[in-house]
Amino acid sequence: MRKPTAGPASSRQRRTSMLAIPLLSLALWSGGIGAAAHAAEPGKDAAGSLPRILVLATGGTIAGQADPRATGAYKSGQITGEQLMASVPGLDKLAKLNAEQISSIGSQDMNDKVWFALARRIQDAFDKNEADGVIITHGTDTLEETAFFLDNVVRGDKPVVIVGSMRPASAVSADGPGNLYEAVQVAADPRSRGRGVMAVLNDKIQGARSVTKTNTTSIETFGSPNDGPIGYVDTAGGIRFLTQAGGFKRATYQLPAGEQLPRVEIVYSHANMDAVPIEDAISHGAKGIVLAGVGDGNTSKSALDALEAAAKKGILVVRSTRVRSGFVTRNVEVDDDKNGFVVSEDLNPQKARVLTQLLIASGVTAPAELQKAFTATW
Ligand code: ASP
Repeated sequence: MRKPTAGPASSRQRRTSMLAIPLLSLALWSGGIGAAAHAAEPGKDAAGSLPRILVLATGGTIAGQADPRATGAYKSGQITGEQLMASVPGLDKLAKLNAEQISSIGSQDMNDKVWFALARRIQDAFDKNEADGVIITHGTDTLEETAFFLDNVVRGDKPVVIVGSMRPASAVSADGPGNLYEAVQVAADPRSRGRGVMAVLNDKIQGARSVTKTNTTSIETFGSPNDGPIGYVDTAGGIRFLTQAGGFKRATYQLPAGEQLPRVEIVYSHANMDAVPIEDAISHGAKGIVLAGVGDGNTSKSALDALEAAAKKGILVVRSTRVRSGFVTRNVEVDDDKNGFVVSEDLNPQKARVLTQLLIASGVTAPAELQKAFTATW
């Protein structure tokens, strides 16, 4: 049942304004998102003017506001997507924007239900030609996981841009307005097509497969350790893509029925590691286990024995790494062929988990088939 979608290994490569300022008028396209489909050229609306961008808001610090009880404290997800977009001067010159609120949560609470709602809404908007591009406003903590999930399930080549901020909207030097402006620049540009889901923050455009959060508090936090950004964007110079669209192969998976992905646990490896976390994962019904291994996806002898036993029971075991960059390679210090393990290649544990969930949901049970999907990019 894997990959039954139309996306035939389709390709991807994949200012500061306080919210207290009066809301600028949002340029909503006529009839809003529910209106009849437009027969529009890519990057243009039916009248041949500005591109139509659907903004799906989920919460996060970008929609956060100061908590008056403590200096530096704030609450995520306090401002709606519509208010957010209206607070950034000049967006109405770039695109016709229509904002919808999908959730109002910090992304530490991101979950399958919101993921499925996002995926379905985006696909519907593209299938009905209601939008030329989509922007998702999101917390930064799990932004990379949402980006990667959507990259694997949304079909078509219209741009999907995910954006967040490290500082709340009420901060002295909030980074949200600039990031939002740049996200609209990217989503509205026809050159952004065919690049999969992109994260746009702090002047960088990064691919969903490689982007990861690298710093707990700095605004310069998102990086792509293995391959660098796919481009740069700034409000003055516009967009500079460094790669061709369609540089990476990717599969698209169909969303399973319902609103839940199969249970896959991440087990973090460390010195003095025993088998308890692996046994726990198995006893809680994990269908897959991703090892955040040391080095090249390694772990202790007792953990390895427990993983081997798990694989024998039909639990899919994927070796990833807690190291920030590099690839996990088959059969180096671990006999993956003998143990029936899979390696995650360049995918970090949190993204390896998402891909494993999608593959299990697609009916994959054989490690060799899982491995093929992890390696399919190269
Ligand atoms: N905890 C916040 C979140 O992910 C952090 C942020 O958005 O920067 O929603």
